[in-house]
Amino acid sequence: MKISIAKEIEVCERRVALVPDTVSRLVKQGFEVFLESGAGERSFFSDADYEAAGAKIVNDSAKLWGEADILLKVSPPQIREDGISEIDSLKENAVLISFLNPLGNPEIAQKLAERKITAFAMEMIPRTTRAQSMDALSSQASIAGYKAVLIAGAALPKYFPMLTTAAGTIAPAKVFVMGAGVAGLQAIATARRLGSVVEAFDIRPAVKEEVQSLGAKFVEVKLKEETTAAGGYAKEISEASKQRTQELVTEHVKNADVVITTAQVPGRKAPLLVTKEMVSQMKPGAVIVDLAAEQGGNCECTEPGKDIIKDGVTIIGPINLPSSMPVHASQLYAKNLTSLMKLFTKENTLQLNFEDDIINAACITHGGEILSSRIKDALA
Ligand code: NAD
Repeated sequence: MKISIAKEIEVCERRVALVPDTVSRLVKQGFEVFLESGAGERSFFSDADYEAAGAKIVNDSAKLWGEADILLKVSPPQIREDGISEIDSLKENAVLISFLNPLGNPEIAQKLAERKITAFAMEMIPRTTRAQSMDALSSQASIAGYKAVLIAGAALPKYFPMLTTAAGTIAPAKVFVMGAGVAGLQAIATARRLGSVVEAFDIRPAVKEEVQSLGAKFVEVKLKEETTAAGGYAKEISEASKQRTQELVTEHVKNADVVITTAQVPGRKAPLLVTKEMVSQMKPGAVIVDLAAEQGGNCECTEPGKDIIKDGVTIIGPINLPSSMPVHASQLYAKNLTSLMKLFTKENTLQLNFEDDIINAACITHGGEILSSRIKDALA
């Protein structure tokens, strides 16, 4: 079977789907691996590294896409500079594995079904123990959480740790993390490692123990409604609960030197947690890093992809943070992909078992059909 690694054409995408180490393992298992020339360059892996791992280098992207049995990518397929659609370049019945954003952009599923592509969306891997090694949302969110703290640290006009020096004592920075999912928990751990005092908040009470085990204080907001949906994700809460939450967290935002927001509700605009009014009450020099910038932002002042200053507060809305650490982001993503492929490639052939809960959830199109009811609903 031919596995092909595409070169990412999205401008801000520096990751690559497989790293040389994973290529050599696949080659040993009997797969033929093809790399679009230069695909690993922005992750600091050269064509020569892939060649040494057993990959064949292809210069012609149309050929690479057209001959692939399994095409691996990071960002959703696009229209190339020559006007040709990447999806149209795939042969019928080819397998595509990538982030596809099928709930945000369900039309992509329609297109993939029309072209009879078997497509796996990495966003749809279930968040279960068995699927952990394939969970690219988690591997990449953890990088975003880590990097958010480093960005905040660089922008903060203060130290993070407490320091006792001959010139006096420095108080530690106060960090407030809003949303304690995978990114939030990694942000807490990183901020703690840098010596700051950390508080965190989430509408799901189940995360309290995890937050505390990382050495942070959990800010509890007791709501009179269920806040956890299927799969452990957060539910969108009522207007009354949103207001109560904002009232309760205002004081913590006001006292923080750094606020890192990571709150998301799948398939919805990110919840608004920090209003303009709250920003105006923050300390001058404080920093907000809004990891939900691409989903509409948790802060009312956020502008995606920009750093802005409002009332003396720096508000940073980074885009695609995992791509800013492409070496490890690609290494972890490659492991996620190979673990998934192991599920449905036996003895070098495709063996799709739709009774398997992971395949059933992640495979969004097959045999000309859209398989996911959530995507069908989004299209209706
Ligand atoms: P996410 O990116 O969807 O959201 C980030 C966090 O924002 C979540 O913790 C959510 O509760 C919180 N949030 C949403 N609305 C909020 C609001 N109004 N105010 C404050 N916080 C709000 O979350 P994620 O990191 O992708 O994790 C989603 C779920 O999947 C979690 O339950 C997590 O524990 C679970 N998970 C399980 C596994 C596993 O079992 N293998 C792996 C990863 C994640």
